[in-house]
Amino acid sequence: MPTPEADGVPGRRSSRFPVVDPATGETFDEAPDQQPAELDEVVARARRAWGGWRADQAARTSALLAAADAVDAAGDDLARLLTREQGKPLAESYAEVARTTARLRYFAELAPRTRRIDDGRPVRSEIRWRSLGPVAAIVPWNFPLQLAAAKFAPALAAGNTMVLKPSPFTPLATRLLGSLLATALPEDVLTVVTGREPLGARLAAHPGIRHVTFTGSVPTGRAVAGAAAASLARVTLELGGNDAAVLLDDVDVDGIADRLFWAAFRNCGQVCMAVKRVYVPARLHAEVVEALARRAKAVTVGPGLDPGTRLGPVNNAPQLARVEQITEQALAHGARAASGGHRLDGPGYFFAPTILTDVPPGSPVVTGEQFGPVLPVVPYGTLDEAVDAANGTGFGLGGSVWGTDLDRAEAVADRLECGTAWINHHAELSLHQPFAGVKDSGVGVAGGPWGLYGNLRPFVVHRPEEG
Ligand code: NAD
Repeated sequence: MPTPEADGVPGRRSSRFPVVDPATGETFDEAPDQQPAELDEVVARARRAWGGWRADQAARTSALLAAADAVDAAGDDLARLLTREQGKPLAESYAEVARTTARLRYFAELAPRTRRIDDGRPVRSEIRWRSLGPVAAIVPWNFPLQLAAAKFAPALAAGNTMVLKPSPFTPLATRLLGSLLATALPEDVLTVVTGREPLGARLAAHPGIRHVTFTGSVPTGRAVAGAAAASLARVTLELGGNDAAVLLDDVDVDGIADRLFWAAFRNCGQVCMAVKRVYVPARLHAEVVEALARRAKAVTVGPGLDPGTRLGPVNNAPQLARVEQITEQALAHGARAASGGHRLDGPGYFFAPTILTDVPPGSPVVTGEQFGPVLPVVPYGTLDEAVDAANGTGFGLGGSVWGTDLDRAEAVADRLECGTAWINHHAELSLHQPFAGVKDSGVGVAGGPWGLYGNLRPFVVHRPEEG
């Protein structure tokens, strides 16, 4: 039976839902199961807090910098809790906490620029920027803290307030993060709500929300866009990816194999812009498969809290079932596992790091998003075939090209239909860059100054010149 407990909104009582440690498959804690009916009050409070928060840019900067310090000071607790509920190795959790505070500090110092329009008319025209109001952020379970920060840092810096909903698979580190931020931010500027669906759907549809910023899968993104349409709230969607790595015929296989392997397997492959398929010249195919499979067999898989672990479990049981199903389907249709290809025995949601070869064309492990520790390696004949295949899915988040001649590699990268491309590495983003997917991978632009302006509306004033 869920135990009732006061939570979040004064006077309200919520039941709780279990939170599972993916390294054991056992419940280790609970989180408040807030109900959609609570959102009216949460959003009303966020709206009231907006008046004071938007008024003072300098106060916002110092509050956000103080918030970053508070998060840093609790970095150990936060990282351990993140590993416990998400599964990733502790070192990766520390890195995630560091990226969370880096985002806070970056956006704290960023302010919109008022600009004059000079169009030759005798009018002084000025573009100013205004915040939007309460923003809803809905995030997935693969990087709960840094993806939340990628949303609240620009939204709050711009003068908005926020209601943040983490995934029910990873609610606890976000709740702790919310309470740390609350020590530095005015009341109700950022509220974390936790609960199961339809909490997210109702938040996206709430008439008091002026911008819905969502990160997650393509189908949920479509539902969120539909829900937000009712109130015509602005929508930013950062959705799934199926990034291709195209290896060129002058690639130094030994030199890049470690980087390529970890570009696919970091966070157990649960990265929106992980390498999810590799295209290799037919002549090099066996060598690349061997180099990746050797690393897959050697990597230490285990609980994220164990010091030697490099690869943790899949985060949750439905995702493990999906990874297993998509792999088995490929194997049943003629693919071969050069390593792995199966769950690991014992407790927890562990899947053996898997390199697939001989994958039949059109297999979902190539055309879809496996989002787990499974990587197909596909041979190609001509470079045009490789580029067509890389661009041949509905996704368009990132992509990379690997080779020795950097100019040639860059010319190939230029042909990729995606938001970010890399040469000889993958998935490393700059805080200063725009982050946007094309095709089904997203709507709107996050990151850098574009992320700030994505949380603002222009306000233009025209007045006649004096005299
Ligand atoms: P998901 O779409 O299932 O869930 C994402 C969030 O939406 C969760 O908080 C979930 O509780 C909530 N949600 C579920 N149904 C909802 C509804 N009807 N309305 C509103 N909210 C709802 O995704 P997931 O399985 O948690 O995460 C994995 C996906 O996220 C992958 O597709 C991955 O590529 C994507 N992702 C994208 C990026 C990016 O920046 N483009 C980053 C990380 C993850």
